[in-house]
Amino acid sequence: MFQKVCIIGCGLIGSSIARAIKKNKLARKIVSSNRSKTTNNKVVQLNIVNDSSSDVRKMVKESDLIIIATPLSSYKKLILKIKSVLKNGAILTDVGSVKKKVVSLIEKHTPQSVSWISSHPIAGTEESGPESGFAELFKNRWCILTPSNKAKNKDIKILENFWKKIGCRVDIMNVKQHDYILSITSHIPHLIAYNIVNTTLNVKKNKEKDIIKYSAGGLRDFTRIASSNPTMWRDIFVQNRKNTSKMIDKFIKNLKDLKKMIKNKDGKKLEKIFTKTRKIRKQIIAAGQDISRPNFGRK
Ligand code: NAD
Repeated sequence: MFQKVCIIGCGLIGSSIARAIKKNKLARKIVSSNRSKTTNNKVVQLNIVNDSSSDVRKMVKESDLIIIATPLSSYKKLILKIKSVLKNGAILTDVGSVKKKVVSLIEKHTPQSVSWISSHPIAGTEESGPESGFAELFKNRWCILTPSNKAKNKDIKILENFWKKIGCRVDIMNVKQHDYILSITSHIPHLIAYNIVNTTLNVKKNKEKDIIKYSAGGLRDFTRIASSNPTMWRDIFVQNRKNTSKMIDKFIKNLKDLKKMIKNKDGKKLEKIFTKTRKIRKQIIAAGQDISRPNFGRK
């Protein structure tokens, strides 16, 4: 059990972690730091944390575990602010969706006495803010750890156990592998969703109403993904631009191939591809990463 855990940025992910810590009794005291007074008051009122303040140095002091759960672009300012108050022997982690830049940035500023071990729980929804969090968010989800050179082995084990206790399965990867894999499984699907919904915005004005009214399963599913936090996704694409640009090139090539098949009425080739993609869905369900029966928006 940790004596004091500090969560910087108590939004969807941060507040879900706080709730899960409380539910599983993993800390004596949980505090958070948010920029606005309103959010700090709210997270205490909602009983998510014991204390919360915009004075991040005060909240970080004496914490055994510090979890950064803010947008990636805020990391630099934050680490510069907190580095001199980090407790000797503390574990510092984050939950950011891209690793290469932030892992080296924080490693550079972390004192030798602190273990810096980056985490990425692959769990989330399209919602934001402390009200949207819930303790079960991490159940059965993978959490990838990308330990830095400043990570002690015993602390990697402690952090691994922490994520397991709140429901995750844990894997360890290097940052390069992490950013590449996530560009395929998460970043490009989001970009495609943003572009599909963006394309519907470009239709003639008098057709807009019909698009909402007759939104079919295909568009509906994409609008859910495309309503994800704009700041967070801006940061993800900017920081993982090399991998995502490569994947966009692959995507464009495949799309051009599909266009050719459609133009040539090559039904055989199309069916072959659609059969392969169907198998991927079955594999994801078999791996316990989704369920087979969505409710299609019905209450
Ligand atoms: P969110 O918008 O719900 O929460 C972010 C919180 O950080 C907000 O409360 C915001 O007010 C606060 N914040 C922003 N800048 C700050 C600063 N400088 N100091 C203190 N607080 C600040 O977003 P989220 O979905 O919880 O995402 C947070 C992080 O988690 C991001 O880095 C994201 O890459 C990562 N992540 C998100 C998901 C997901 O699906 N949402 C999944 C895994 C990882």
